[in-house]
Amino acid sequence: MNPHEIRIIGDPVLRTIGDPVDNVDGALVQLVDNMFETMYEAAGIGLAAPQVGVQKQFFVYDHGDEVGVILNPKIVESDGEWVFEEGCLSVPGLSWEITRPKTIHLVGIDLEGNEVSKEADEIEARLFQHEIDHLNGVLLIDHLDDEQRKEALGTLRKMNFQRPSSPPAPGELRLP
Ligand code: ZN
Repeated sequence: MNPHEIRIIGDPVLRTIGDPVDNVDGALVQLVDNMFETMYEAAGIGLAAPQVGVQKQFFVYDHGDEVGVILNPKIVESDGEWVFEEGCLSVPGLSWEITRPKTIHLVGIDLEGNEVSKEADEIEARLFQHEIDHLNGVLLIDHLDDEQRKEALGTLRKMNFQRPSSPPAPGELRLP
């Protein structure tokens, strides 16, 4: 199976809230494999299910020594403040300095059903917060102030991203 097409800002699936994953089956494992492939092909360090059109609460990531998939992730604690120039595979070519908590404590489950509990800092904490945003329909531009957002929306309009034209992948939910 080919990697997925990454959904671009303007695609309504990026604004939906994913359903919790309550069952890991072969289809999900296959989807996770494909998402890793898609992420590596795009040279990303994380990819959330809605970015490939799937309204589910999970993401894959590969940063440093940490590679994995986290289902139903939640941030249970966050601390500090850190400014970082942040981009997104669903908003290609653009990035903004965005302030977020510097450290987080994330919980979730892995593909084997084991509980995951992670203390993350700086880039890794940023990555997890970014992916969890995707699971809740939140995009980078939502973190900008009014003036920045106006400018960003103007830039995005000029870039005129096309809506996807490929047929839905198996197991994929696409909004009308
Ligand atoms: Zn993103």
